[in-house]
Amino acid sequence: MNTIMDEMYQNLGISKVVLDAGNRIEQELKSRFANFDKVAEYNQLKVLHAMQKNRVNEGCFHYASGYGYNDQGRDTLEQVYADTFHTEAALVRPQITCGTHALALALSANLRPGDELLSPVGKPYDTLEEVIGIRPSKGSLAEYGITYRQVELLEDGYFDYPAIEKAINEKTKLITIQRSKGYQTRPSYSVEKIGELIAFVKKIKPDVICMVDNCYGEFVETIEPSDVGADMIVGSLIKNPGGGLAPIGGYVAGRSDLIENCAYRLTSPGLGKEVGASLGVMQSFYQGFFLAPTVVSSAIKGAVFAANIYERLGFGVIPNGQESRHDIIQAVELGTADGVIAFCKGIQAAAPVDSFVTPVPWAMPGYDSDVIMAAGAFVQGSSIELSADGPIKPPYAVYFQGGLTWPHAKLGILQSLQQLVSVGIVTEEQLKNL
Ligand SMILES: *Cc1c(COP(=O)(O)O)cnc(C)c1O
Repeated sequence: MNTIMDEMYQNLGISKVVLDAGNRIEQELKSRFANFDKVAEYNQLKVLHAMQKNRVNEGCFHYASGYGYNDQGRDTLEQVYADTFHTEAALVRPQITCGTHALALALSANLRPGDELLSPVGKPYDTLEEVIGIRPSKGSLAEYGITYRQVELLEDGYFDYPAIEKAINEKTKLITIQRSKGYQTRPSYSVEKIGELIAFVKKIKPDVICMVDNCYGEFVETIEPSDVGADMIVGSLIKNPGGGLAPIGGYVAGRSDLIENCAYRLTSPGLGKEVGASLGVMQSFYQGFFLAPTVVSSAIKGAVFAANIYERLGFGVIPNGQESRHDIIQAVELGTADGVIAFCKGIQAAAPVDSFVTPVPWAMPGYDSDVIMAAGAFVQGSSIELSADGPIKPPYAVYFQGGLTWPHAKLGILQSLQQLVSVGIVTEEQLKNL
């Protein structure tokens, strides 16, 4: 087995030294990996239970077109999401185009002129700045007379409770909590920590709506923010819950009155959930949700594997190799532009699609520096598939995430290492001592 395995890695361009180093680290991570498998096992059962309870059947996969009245597959899937996340209702639609759209929908559907939105966890995800109107944009909440307040995080990246208490006022209607750090350097929050924050806020103002941006967090733990008091959780189907199969889509799950508002906003007042044909994507939504728990655990293994390798090579890694995990994103500070480029080349070279393409930095709209991106995905922009990107500026960090299978995630990290060796940023000597 060892020789044919080594040979196969060699065929893919991985040297014996890189492979051996990777295998040693993998060996040391065995018991942690077993824990991730246990979480996946639990979540797999949770999803299965919801599918069985709702009597998912072949008819759920039928093509529906036009208005989509009585689209049984769509309606049943929404109940499966609601039961999995222990919420009253859910809206899961291909007409929700991405995570930002799902968040914009949940906010605009449940806020009215004169209301105030509060982020008690500092700056929200980049794209939400325009949704809220922090950066002016057509159609922002600000244009509709919805004000915004933000409480900065403490030095340690956690919540400034006294300042949050002060920020809550008679206008505060909704608070938004982002679970994953996204592309910031603060910690991602455990579901438990989010629960503490929600309890605090509700004690001050019981009727405030607590929404959690759940992107990259689904199935990382055995509970979700909706289990600890969140009134709405929101995410993208080309991240965790789509399991790599959903070709588009977003979801909002939560209290039925809030979800109803979302449905009326997504389609039209008076129509709500009743319309919106699923156009044949239902099988991929169901099957992706079914696979999501094990896909997420594969991605977490990849993240932890990379954290441990790069940490020991002396690079900064966030989270570090030992920390508990609350999302699937891993940051590695490579310290130089060449390092970021080599890392991304490696991820691209490991891809099932477009492996022959060489990623190069470019001036992406909306960014203040060149950005390099590696993605060889079946679904464009899918970041539950193995992908990496890095802005070409200090501290020259690369963010990577995803991996539909652990062997692919492993190959991606090994390829990145091989590229760093080939440009002399990592030496074979270092790897032998790893
Ligand atoms: C990805 C992400 C979003 C936005 O999702 P898109 O699908 O890229 O629009 C919002 N918040 C967080 C934390 C994310 O990771």
